[in-house]
Amino acid sequence: SKAKLFDEKTDTRTSFKDVAGLEGAKEEVQEIVEFLKNPDKYTSLGGKIPKGALLVGPPGTGKTLLAKAVAGEAKVPFFSLSGSDFVEMFVGVGASRVRDLFKQAKDKSPAIIFIDEIDAIGRARGKNNFTGSNDERENTLNQLLTEMDGFGTNTNVIVLAATNRADVLDKALMRAGRFDRQIYVDLPDLRERKEIFEVHLRPIKTAETLDLDFLAKQTPGFSGADIANVCNEAALIAARKEKKAVTKQDFLDAVDRIVGGLEKKNKIIT
Ligand code: ATP
Repeated sequence: SKAKLFDEKTDTRTSFKDVAGLEGAKEEVQEIVEFLKNPDKYTSLGGKIPKGALLVGPPGTGKTLLAKAVAGEAKVPFFSLSGSDFVEMFVGVGASRVRDLFKQAKDKSPAIIFIDEIDAIGRARGKNNFTGSNDERENTLNQLLTEMDGFGTNTNVIVLAATNRADVLDKALMRAGRFDRQIYVDLPDLRERKEIFEVHLRPIKTAETLDLDFLAKQTPGFSGADIANVCNEAALIAARKEKKAVTKQDFLDAVDRIVGGLEKKNKIIT
């Protein structure tokens, strides 16, 4: 596959301001920001900076966004790859990609490595071992564990990984000195949905003052990604109707459209 497996973005524009709600998770990752900004302060007393943390929660809840915000707040480079990129990979390629990624991050440290969908490589070993590609997945996972164990105490690279299936992960990943912290990133409640609307309404030209409580009440079960989608869709609906600004009705139409999409998706799954 020619997919780009990791990309470094010295993009320091994502900040905690872009992440609505998730107060508890933000508080937990704030500590990681401090470690990255000022590693010596923490190691001077003999402490070891954590090497990894697992961001656990449903799709679209802001795990990637939060990881980018950590890098942005600490002003360090962000290296990322997705576990799903390793599916159907030729023998040896997965492990060597992981090796390259860690080498690059170490060269540019302090840095953040983000592994999305870690369950695609980090599922418990020795299960479902009937497909050939599984061996390569294991090689990749083993390389990841080797890299994390190989970090010195002053490597100053912190690995954040995201999953919505922490239960299927190989326990070896969660051992001390690896992903030994779990940070929960849940679906937003009413108040958080309101805050997410606030963030995603920033670039939208609205025709009237929108009642955000009302919008939040119309969107139970929506993730942050769904709400971002609603705001974008509303602007497109209004534009299609040659409007000069987006109205409340456009938002309601957008909500209907997203609900329709979600229902379709659920039908395919069940
Ligand atoms: P997945 O598990 O599907 O990879 P994720 O949890 O990593 O999802 P993101 O990719 O971070 O989710 O979220 C997608 C988009 O949804 C973000 O880029 C952002 O626009 C919006 N979003 C999600 N959560 C939030 C939030 N808490 N605040 C603001 N925007 C959010």
